[in-house]
Amino acid sequence: MSELHKFLFEGLPVRGMLVRLTDSWREVLARRQSGEPFDPPVRQLLGEMAAAGVLMQANIKFNGAVVLQIFGDGPVKLAVSETTPDLGFRTTAKVVGDVPATDTGTLPLSEMVNLHGQGRCAVTLDPQDKLPGQQPYQGVVPLNGDNGQALTKLSDVLQQYMLKSEQLDTTIVLAADDNIAAGLLIQRLPLEGEGNLEGEGKTDQSEADEDFNRIATLAASLKREELLTLDAETILHRLFWEEKVLRFEPQEGSMGPRFQCTCSRERVGNMLRGLGKEEVDSVIEEQGRVDVGCDFCGVRYQFDSVDVSELFAQGPDHPPSSSNLQ
Ligand SMILES: [Zn+2]
Repeated sequence: MSELHKFLFEGLPVRGMLVRLTDSWREVLARRQSGEPFDPPVRQLLGEMAAAGVLMQANIKFNGAVVLQIFGDGPVKLAVSETTPDLGFRTTAKVVGDVPATDTGTLPLSEMVNLHGQGRCAVTLDPQDKLPGQQPYQGVVPLNGDNGQALTKLSDVLQQYMLKSEQLDTTIVLAADDNIAAGLLIQRLPLEGEGNLEGEGKTDQSEADEDFNRIATLAASLKREELLTLDAETILHRLFWEEKVLRFEPQEGSMGPRFQCTCSRERVGNMLRGLGKEEVDSVIEEQGRVDVGCDFCGVRYQFDSVDVSELFAQGPDHPPSSSNLQ
């Protein structure tokens, strides 16, 4: 079962999270099988994005979706993962042309999404109950480091995002294959009473730096293979057996991360209305019906001419302006 583990280091300003998407990740891949399956390196990227999305959602107090997007300038034009506050996630990619062949199933970001150095990663926090005119909050980082060098791993990009956008020192390790998508996040918490050196406990900056650096170094030593094959107990014990780790009850099942698509016939209908009657009518004329497939879950929505006339008879989604009133 897919699971999320949260933990703290006793007395230290450091917290951590470990996510393992198993059944839910395999469901994502199985749903894709019926359509056009992604190449292995794209599957790996999407698995890592799904795991990272769950970690980032669980890491913030925010009532809305966390949307990770990579806008690529290589064969992968877009890769996206969305995670709702109850840890439902979905992910997909838009691939144009061929992804380079590889024996390992792994490709650096530079060969998939940052071929010409123009790739971008956007993190969007999309509020669930938007106030009128409220815009989602979005932070964008390049796929290159401070010296312009191309970053090879998604984890490096997200660490950079956390530092630049959230001012939080974070270490992230991600890995995915066709069986599991997993991730470890270690984050430094802002010190309580920062700057007050007289307080009780560890308020000394250099001591806190040392504690975080030690734990971050341990976390970064986690190998891809270990993350893919070991259970949570073994990973946490192997890395942090010398630390005092306080663990929370794992979140799994209906409380844990799981595949969930937010698409609906109503949403697709709204999208068609956005295209305009003329455009949709021309598709009906040509093909007899409109057939829209959801890229995330593979469900198909079909609208025949009767459905379409009903759709446009309802009028636009927003209240009609006065000229439309009877
Ligand atoms: Zn869907």
